[in-house]
Amino acid sequence: MDKFHDECAVMGVYGHPEAANMVYLGLYALQHRGQESCGIVSSDGKALISHRQMGLVADVFKEDVIKRLEGQSAIGHNRYSTQGQSHLKNAQPFVVEYSQGPIAIAHNGNLVNGAILREELERSGSIFQSTSDTEVIIHLIATSKEISLMGRIVEALSRVRGAYSLLFITPERMIAARDPYGFRPLVLGKFREGPNSGSHVVASETCALDLIEADYVREVEPGEIITFGPNGMESLKPFPPVPHAKCIFEYIYFARPDSSLYGHNVYNVRKSMGRQLAKESAVNADLVTPVPDSGVPAAIGYAEESKIPLEFGLIRNHYVGRTFIEPQQTIRHFGVKIKLNAQREVLNGKRVIVVDDSIVRGTTSRKIIRMLRDAGAKEVHMRISSPATTGPCYYGIDTPTRTELIASSNSLEEIRRFIEADTLAYLSNEGMYDYFDGNRQGFCDACFSGNYPVHFEDEGHTRQLHLFDALQHRS
Ligand code: AMP
Repeated sequence: MDKFHDECAVMGVYGHPEAANMVYLGLYALQHRGQESCGIVSSDGKALISHRQMGLVADVFKEDVIKRLEGQSAIGHNRYSTQGQSHLKNAQPFVVEYSQGPIAIAHNGNLVNGAILREELERSGSIFQSTSDTEVIIHLIATSKEISLMGRIVEALSRVRGAYSLLFITPERMIAARDPYGFRPLVLGKFREGPNSGSHVVASETCALDLIEADYVREVEPGEIITFGPNGMESLKPFPPVPHAKCIFEYIYFARPDSSLYGHNVYNVRKSMGRQLAKESAVNADLVTPVPDSGVPAAIGYAEESKIPLEFGLIRNHYVGRTFIEPQQTIRHFGVKIKLNAQREVLNGKRVIVVDDSIVRGTTSRKIIRMLRDAGAKEVHMRISSPATTGPCYYGIDTPTRTELIASSNSLEEIRRFIEADTLAYLSNEGMYDYFDGNRQGFCDACFSGNYPVHFEDEGHTRQLHLFDALQHRS
């Protein structure tokens, strides 16, 4: 099963004459959330029309394809998978035809009981087309005994556990749903004054709304299901509330800095994390340099706070595709060098503070530090604008297994030695919440703290799903 590798984007538009085109533009803005495959399903009021393909949004959707995706509503999806199976059959949105007609689904997040439900469904005759967890939701809807679509969706969602920000489309309606914990982001927007005012948009991030000139209205709330139909918009909260667990890592790495996430601008949060990092782990140096792009806002914050000049000692090539022809002769640090180049003119003879957002396996940091030294850096001090990543994510961020995470089994000093830095410091867990006045409530930081809000099958050891069981019990 494709369990842990579903970083994704969803985007939907209801009641707009150029629905598919708007979704296409939204997916374009959300490309950072997934580059492997993409798809759009539109409704012309009677049937669903679908196009899914491997590749980037700009390559997959040409004018003729968008024209074919007729209708006033559409949903779309970008999918990313590094270690999961990458096949067209896993590209979303999934479209199925069941007794009540056609329905399509687009999902961001990971279900922690996807494998268990899938086994159950297969035993009672369901045949799956993909290896993705998302298809489980569709089968649960199709096999539900409830009569109304909403009844079926509520029943299906009451059985799945874990992270979901979802969009559904049927010929008449679009439906958005976010899990009760709110693990993954999902926002509601509305088109501005003019011929399309009143048309609605739902997207993973607000940067998608900006591009199509829709106004941000609010988040789709954790546990909320919103239906967009001929009679307008209806909101439902059918599940008992649980403490929210919005992903803090979206702020650190994943979301676009120009998005407003859970009500705060991502760039400002990242900058403030950099400031805090400088307060916690000052060191004498000549310059601060970011690992672009993800380390840039934090490095700006670090430089401002420490009053050490910010310089771009590493320059990124933005046009690096997923594959390139490797040289037959060894070029040192080739894998990183093709993305980043270290500037001797900036670095030579300097004591350098290099700021990145996170260390996962440690291999990138090690190569970057070697590159900085090759370019003449006299000292290299690594500063990370998040705490050490000690545990995998089971809720939709692509982190490797625990054993591959360098911080899961190595001390700070061991990591420092491995990456060959003169000094190494991470942001403290408390410091990560400085921007929020120390208030950790409402966030999931399991990858740093080990506090998993919803339990899971962890590398073979089945843990109790007690939280969700309590929830089921109450409902
Ligand atoms: P590593 O060599 O595994 O330590 O890679 C660290 C780099 O990966 C950092 O520059 C991070 O910005 C980046 N990174 C962190 N999390 C992810 C993720 N989920 N997907 C892709 N890159 C990531």
